[in-house]
Formats: sequence, C-alpha cells, structure tokens
Amino acid sequence: MRKIFVALMVLLLLTGTACAEKKSAWSPEMRIGLTSGVKRVELKVSAACVLIDTATGKRLSKIPAEKKFVIDAAKLKVDTVEVRPKEIRLQDLQTTIDGKKFFGGVRLNKVRDTLTVINLVPTEEYLRGVVAKEMMPSYPLEALKAQTVAARSFAMKNRSRHETEGFDLCATTHCQVYDGYAEFDAVNRAVEETRGRVLMFKNKIADANFHTDSGGMTENVADVWGTYAPYLVAVKELLTLGEPWTVKVTAKDFSAHMGEGFGEVKSFKLSPLTIGKDADDRSSSGRVKSMQIVGTKKTVKLTGADLRLKFSLPSTLFDIKLDGEAVIFEGYGRGHGVGMSQLGAKAYATDGWSYEKILAHYYRGAQLKKVY
Ligand SMILES: [Zn+2]
Repeated sequence: MRKIFVALMVLLLLTGTACAEKKSAWSPEMRIGLTSGVKRVELKVSAACVLIDTATGKRLSKIPAEKKFVIDAAKLKVDTVEVRPKEIRLQDLQTTIDGKKFFGGVRLNKVRDTLTVINLVPTEEYLRGVVAKEMMPSYPLEALKAQTVAARSFAMKNRSRHETEGFDLCATTHCQVYDGYAEFDAVNRAVEETRGRVLMFKNKIADANFHTDSGGMTENVADVWGTYAPYLVAVKELLTLGEPWTVKVTAKDFSAHMGEGFGEVKSFKLSPLTIGKDADDRSSSGRVKSMQIVGTKKTVKLTGADLRLKFSLPSTLFDIKLDGEAVIFEGYGRGHGVGMSQLGAKAYATDGWSYEKILAHYYRGAQLKKVY
C-alpha cells in the first residue's frame, strides 16, 4: 500500500513538473514581417525542421539542422510555406534568414513571383529582441521590466495591424523595432520576470505607447494622433527634465520649406514655451500645436508636427527664434511624447521605483494583469 502511495506521489510530482514547464514556456505566436518583394531567401535552422504547406498542413520536405538551403519564389509550387521544428518547441528554435539569426521559424508568402518573409516567433522570444533594441540593455532592471510590459501590451494590442500584408507586426519603428535574436542577461530577466503581464484598461489590453524622452512632461494622445485613451494623458516628470536640444537652420533654407510665394522669413507668432503650461497654440504639456510664420510675401500656419517633420526636430516641445541669418529651434525631449518616457523610466528605476510604480505613473488608471 505504502509503495503504491509513494509511486503515486512520484508520478504526481513528475507530471506536475512537466505541466509547469510546458505552461511557462508557451506564449502566443507572432508573425513579424521582415521583408517583401524578394526573389529568394537563404535559410538555416538550428535544429531539424519540416517545410509545411501552410494551407493544407502537409509536410513538403525535411530540413536538416545547420545546413544552408534556398527557397526560390519562382520554384515554389504553393502560396505559403513555413519552416517549423520537427521535434523541439518553436521557442527553442533559431532560424538564420539571409545571414541574420532570428528566434523561431519562418513563413514565406508568395506574392506574384516574389516572397514576403515572415518570422514566426513566440511573443516572449520576440520581446527579448524588441526590448534589446528599444531600450539600452544597460538600463536598470525595473526600467527594462517596465519597457517589456509596455512592448508586450503594444504588441498584443496591435496584433494583426498588418493583416492585409499577411502578418501581425512589422519590425520597424512603425510597430516596434525588432532586429531578431538577441542575448542580454538583463533583458532576458526582465522578460522572464514579467512573463505574460500586460497593461489593461477596462478589461482590454492597453495601447502602451512609449518614446525616448518626454522632455519634462508626456503628452495627451489626443493632441498627437487625435485618438482618445484615458490612460494616455499628459503627466509631469518628477525626477528628470530630459535633455535639451538645439536645431539650427539657415533662414534661406527655412524659407524654402515654406512653400511658393512665401518670400523670406520675417518673424514667428508662437507663445513662449513653459513646460506644463498650455496656450491657444500649445498643448497642456507645452508642445507646439500650431504656429504662424510670417514671411515677406505671406504668412503661413503650420502644426508642430509639420515643423518636426520638415526639419527633423527631435520633438514638438520647442521655442523658435530668428537670429540673423539663422532660424534656431530650442527644445526638450525626443519622440512623440505619448505614454512612457524611457529616460524617465530609467530615472525612476535608478531612484528605486518598481516597474509597477513606473507603469502606474505613465499609464494612468491602467492595471497590470497576467494574461498567460
Ligand atoms: Zn508596422
């Protein structure tokens, strides 16, 4: 009797461990668009794989580990194929695509006579790559954790943003920067210790935007993209004012950007900048909503975003002046200013704040929840 009991306990312990391992390793699979319009792609997998016809699930061929092979659009007989591991889990596979290593496998969509290359990657492995690119891996751990949760929330919220192109997210700043495989202990730890955690608002995953440096105060999402989210409101930085910047343009160059019939720049009509103070032409954080530019032949009205784009300004939180033959922009912050400031997160983490506290500061009223 006792023997049976012990054997049962051992069995329970074993299956319990196996289940826990399996559960902790899984995360939703993301399809990350890497390139499109290519004629061929060279692949190499870290473990034995199979080439599958996505539409039917049929195995087309076996792919040995560590051996380069080429898929040619012209020779491909089916619309979509994917490379998946034969025996191991997707999160344990790495695929080298045209010389660059990625987590997970790959899908190739045939579009006329070219290929769209899509990385099939579990969310947690994708985040290891994203966080390493979006934030300096040398930043304090709690800042990296806040960044991970923001990136995970953003990815899950914006999934299928590129559905018409056949994938979930792209790998550029349009979605989130993902440059494939990355191994940084601190980043891996940040991902593991926040596993499956996202920001939610009213039971929906929050659109956790982030940027480099708020310059002293973040921005209402409505003042940047015209959308509304109660958790994306302007909040003051408590520890850092961010880094000031200066951009100088010659008056001649500036005038040339004002369109035909403008003449030469004479003066500007814009309320002076005070961070955290609004005006008719400035948002509640002080960012430029719009301003008038007086020329010798006419006056033009431009938005802060227009000016940022035209002169590659780091942000729209600026003052402008005409100084002889030069137009000088003096401002603070880098990026759109919506949601978490990475520089701010670093300052708070250095000061001893937890990632939960950092997130609560930037995403007002959003709650942290574990979704897997
Ligand atoms: Zn995108």
